[in-house]
Amino acid sequence: MSYDAIVVGAGHNGLVAAAYLAKAGRRVLVLERRDVLGGAAVSEAVWPGWTVSTASYVCSLLHPRIIEELRLRSYGYDAYPKDPSSFTPLQDGRSLLLGRDDAQNASEIARFDRDDVAGFAAFEKAATALGSQLFDAFERDDPENVCFDDATHATLYGSAADFVERYVKTPVVQATLATDGLIGTYAGPRDPGTAYVLAYHYAGRALGSQGAWGFVRGGMGAISRALALVARIAGATFATNATVARILVRDGRAYGVALADGTEFEAHVVLSGADPIATFGEMLAPSDLPADLAARVADWQIEGCSLKLNLALGELPNFTARPGNRDSQAHHRATIHVAPSIDYLQNAHDDARTLGASREPMLECFMQTPTDPSLAPPGKHLLSIFAQYYPYHRIDGPWTQAQRDAAQTTIVDTLAKYAPNIPDSIEGSQLLAAPDLEERFGLHGGHIFHGELLPGQILGERFSTRTPIAGLYLCGSGASPGGCVSGIPGLRAARAVAVDTFAPLPI
Ligand SMILES: Cc1cc2nc3c(=O)[nH]c(=O)nc-3n(C[C@H](O)[C@H](O)[C@H](O)COP(=O)(O)OP(=O)(O)OC[C@H]3O[C@@H](n4cnc5c(N)ncnc54)[C@H](O)[C@@H]3O)c2cc1C
Repeated sequence: MSYDAIVVGAGHNGLVAAAYLAKAGRRVLVLERRDVLGGAAVSEAVWPGWTVSTASYVCSLLHPRIIEELRLRSYGYDAYPKDPSSFTPLQDGRSLLLGRDDAQNASEIARFDRDDVAGFAAFEKAATALGSQLFDAFERDDPENVCFDDATHATLYGSAADFVERYVKTPVVQATLATDGLIGTYAGPRDPGTAYVLAYHYAGRALGSQGAWGFVRGGMGAISRALALVARIAGATFATNATVARILVRDGRAYGVALADGTEFEAHVVLSGADPIATFGEMLAPSDLPADLAARVADWQIEGCSLKLNLALGELPNFTARPGNRDSQAHHRATIHVAPSIDYLQNAHDDARTLGASREPMLECFMQTPTDPSLAPPGKHLLSIFAQYYPYHRIDGPWTQAQRDAAQTTIVDTLAKYAPNIPDSIEGSQLLAAPDLEERFGLHGGHIFHGELLPGQILGERFSTRTPIAGLYLCGSGASPGGCVSGIPGLRAARAVAVDTFAPLPI
């Protein structure tokens, strides 16, 4: 059977593209290698009775237009703000809790340094403005023509440390703010371009205010489920356990795909939501790749350094800095950072380069169960830990089970310095190092964004939606604007297909 469009990969971006095209009346086939839809935006029953966002865990960048136009709320999507937004405990018993209440933020920061109260407010204003500029840039279909004034350009292409140190002096405040510049990125806080990653984390508008982050009820898979439902109701066909081995090209034009088992499907256009290495480096024959595209693929920076550790806890963490765990407290709902200073973060990065992994890792932890108890059995809690730096290619040799065990011990021991009851409350654990993220989600190098979001790979320098092969589009995070659960690469690809086939989308 022949289709109007084949979508390779049912990550959330592939699903966005499929939903728009199916709603526009196209015959769409979605082929996914896993047995579950959603790619890195997925909720899985890792243990009976638990619902785990195994990869991504919080939402901000999902484009409000997608939420509205596809009426995702009618299909089960519901996000609610994370408030307070961050909690950073220190070993000396102090801690920093930040949220949406300006007066509360001021009193928290003043306990460290009164001058930083104004500095923090100024930083938030500057970061939010940068995030807003980025979001407006992401709206454009011609990212290569985005241009910023000199000051903005200098900030974005500078380091996260320089950016935050311009505004605040207190080490824990600096580090708490700088971590957003390091998420998913194999760079230290003093490396150029990390300010772009930081601003990227302020670009989202899904929660209704610029830069706010939130939890998705039911876990991140609820986004993918809603998108798949929209596509299915509009007539799209889905196949899981369907690994695409080759994109079929004739006379420079993509005309279909072949699965690993040899089954072939033909279509007018092919959209790939798989990453650029998979799409260009593996699914296309070398003879189908123009030399300049082959060179770009070879140079693509896609060394992942993030590790995800999901812990099933029998009770809430009891933090020395804010004692109490009988009932959940405000700080349990926030992103819990282990990030006492910029130097700590830099050392975590430098260790990975010289030793293979951080001796004292940067940790970003989330507990959704205090606000969504349906995710765990009664009284239990899910602690989702995002840890850096644990690179895909370790200088001390390939990943082994012993290294995974050592990473888990280091992470749990690090957390125990702040909440000593954590080790004894662990009832289950799932550790996904970079090679595991690659195997499970098909992310080459275990890179959470399909490639670094650093200069050379951002804005007009990221892969384009349209490829040099006629009829082939990149609809995943390797395409502009890049990673995170935004749906924007999928939306752009659907738009490009509509324009190129002279049939505008109906919405
Ligand atoms: C551990 C982790 C934590 C993260 N945390 C967050 C977060 O909290 N918030 C946030 O916004 N973002 C987060 N991210 C990033 C975000 O999840 C990703 O950038 C985003 O989900 C990628 O979506 P995508 O649709 O572009 O690609 P993917 O989700 O990677 O989807 C690609 C799909 O293609 C499939 N595929 C690949 N090859 C083939 C093939 N040959 N045949 C068929 N199918 C194929 C894959 O199985 C996959 O389903 C995180 C990512 C990870 C891994």
